[in-house]
Amino acid sequence: MTTDDLPRIEARGVTKIFAGVPALDKVELTLYPGEVVGLLGENGAGKSTLIKVLAGVYIPEHGEIKVRGEKVHFTEPLHALARGIATVHQHSSLANNLTVAQNLILGREPGVSWLPFWIRQKAILAKAREITDQLGIELPLTTLVDDLTVAQKQRVEIVRAAAEADTLIILDEPTAALNPDEVDELFELIGTLKAKGIPVLYVSHRLDEIPRICDRVEVLRDGKNVGGLNHEDSVPAKIIP
Ligand code: ADP
Ligand code: MG
Repeated sequence: MTTDDLPRIEARGVTKIFAGVPALDKVELTLYPGEVVGLLGENGAGKSTLIKVLAGVYIPEHGEIKVRGEKVHFTEPLHALARGIATVHQHSSLANNLTVAQNLILGREPGVSWLPFWIRQKAILAKAREITDQLGIELPLTTLVDDLTVAQKQRVEIVRAAAEADTLIILDEPTAALNPDEVDELFELIGTLKAKGIPVLYVSHRLDEIPRICDRVEVLRDGKNVGGLNHEDSVPAKIIP
């Protein structure tokens, strides 16, 4: 078996307790390369808690997380990022006063501080262009992030996530602030990630968009798995209690 047959990420029996109450109760989740999996459930079902456990924000009391079949112990978000897990939140975490290119390689700038500014800028632009070329997508690399629309900012964040994370990209309510055309563009970008083999965990309330973008869904209720559905299943009918 090659590592590409293995699930990229697995949660096994994950339990997370807040003040004596389980927010997650023996939760199971598996994503294989190139899968887009919807994570659904009502408010308070445990979706945010689960993605925070996967992203190293919360440490679960029980259960295990595996990356490519190997058990991991994240105690901070940097550990998860180091294993290729990135989350794109509803609110932009980009630096507004920097260009798109600078944001794409933030924290990984060419280490040449003694070089003239304009040469460093050229190196940053070249590295950023490498990232967008690899994904085959266009971004306004020299534009200030402050001048982008909400949808463009999200696109930059997803591309940045794809550049640093190939285990799992978590999208938390990604269509909340988008118009229908922007949703189409987002779905196209998710298709690109899928084609690159990067699994996407897609957290959403909007049942109508799930069949368009997800290969299958996992549903949580009161912190428990209440079953998964494949693409062929009638999603809304089965999820709404
Ligand atoms: P969802 O994202 O599906 O709406 P959450 O994961 O945010 O659900 O919440 C699951 C349960 O855990 C809820 O009952 C919520 O009140 C509780 N919870 C979430 N985060 C915390 C926290 N930091 N402290 C205490 N309780 C929390
Ligand atoms: Mg939530």
